[in-house]
Amino acid sequence: MEASEKNELKELRERLMISPTLVWDQANPALREAITAYGEEYKTFLDRAKTEREAVAEIERQAKARGFVDLAANAPGPKSYYNYKGKTIVLVVQGRRPLTAGLRLVGTHIDSPRLDLKQYPVYEDTDLAFLKTHYYGGIKKYQWLARPLAIHGVVLKADGSRVELVVGENPGDPVFTVCDLLPHLARKSQMDKKVSDAFEGEKLNVLVGSLPLGDKETKDRFKLYLLNHLEEKYGIREEDFISAELEVVPAGPARDLGWDRSLVGGYGQDDRSCSYAALAAVLETEAPEYTSLALFYDKEEVGSDGNTAAKSCLLEEIVETLLERAGENPQARRRVLMASKAISGDVTGALDPDYPEVHEKRNAAKMGYGVAFHKYGGSGGKYNTNDSNAEYVAWIRKIFQEYGVVWQAGQLGKVDEGGGGTIAKYLAIHGLEIIDCGTPLLSMHSPFEVASKADLYMTFKAYRAFFNAL
Ligand code: MN
Ligand code: MN
Repeated sequence: MEASEKNELKELRERLMISPTLVWDQANPALREAITAYGEEYKTFLDRAKTEREAVAEIERQAKARGFVDLAANAPGPKSYYNYKGKTIVLVVQGRRPLTAGLRLVGTHIDSPRLDLKQYPVYEDTDLAFLKTHYYGGIKKYQWLARPLAIHGVVLKADGSRVELVVGENPGDPVFTVCDLLPHLARKSQMDKKVSDAFEGEKLNVLVGSLPLGDKETKDRFKLYLLNHLEEKYGIREEDFISAELEVVPAGPARDLGWDRSLVGGYGQDDRSCSYAALAAVLETEAPEYTSLALFYDKEEVGSDGNTAAKSCLLEEIVETLLERAGENPQARRRVLMASKAISGDVTGALDPDYPEVHEKRNAAKMGYGVAFHKYGGSGGKYNTNDSNAEYVAWIRKIFQEYGVVWQAGQLGKVDEGGGGTIAKYLAIHGLEIIDCGTPLLSMHSPFEVASKADLYMTFKAYRAFFNAL
């Protein structure tokens, strides 16, 4: 082959074939610096927002500091927030066009898999004090054994008073744990079983103490010691656990991962990688063309049911409120939503080189190749998912190109392998255009999820572009 012909074929190849971009390949010093700085702020957010309630408080704090006012209190201003029951929050930046031109929405979720305490959690067995749990969301149970755990949450007493708890995060704090069986004795009860049978939800009991109160004659003296301690320290009694939301989460902060510090390891990155990106993007958005909303939902990990979840009427209520404030007919709410464009900001499983068999490598998201979007999720016949319209996907491609967002299209797993749902299909009910778009993770849904700092930054850039694009 002649040199000119070779060149021609090379050009043809470059023109016709898609070639994914590794973010690091195009990262000049300024971009690297921005990626690193963003990673620092992101880790701080992860540490301050380990539960949905903590996330709402932190998002509200940052929004207020940037001039957002309370929408529910009808405070005037172009930037507002709507905190619903302390478990879900929406930030709004007023656009230049009327609401009926449509909104720009980025919806993410701020709940993560964890162990919730049961209603009657406290018991003693074999002279040790424990708390019983019911796990929340999709976990691999064995990942929660033999690791330091923290307890975060609230206790509401019958007199209306409220106790907030965080134990296990400060270096001086005690931590808790779910004990695992020693390998010497685990053959029959664990090793010979299927993994799904070997670890039982009912055995995810948290060890919280071993001191007795009184002497051998005292009944339930280990449980009594614990309850006595809880009353002295927090003023709570056993009955107060009935109206509590106490969540057991991995103890300790998010960390840089790798010699090169290019990755972040930590709990709750599904979906706080996208939540933080949406927060950072909406905080930077000034007088956009279209009114822009960042929605931070609760209960996604358990199917988006409940009054603080994406299936609730919250979005409609906010649109009606915005219409009223703009002097327009709140009945136009459906028209506003049908004219709107949305991103469902949620993570996806990145291609794991140790388990290529579950991925379809041509269509899986790869670490370091930018924010990943899914036209559709689901599995085995595209059930239970939103399948974005091609026209909308084309528009997303166009704005990402315009704004220099490094992106990839990534599907979660092989066609028949299983899959995951997001809030996209619940928001799509309103008739708006929506696509899933978020950060690829390794070890997704584990107590220590892994993200690339490059992809985290591109997620932020993607949402910022979306809010600002025409
Ligand atoms: Mn998620
Ligand atoms: Mn999830």
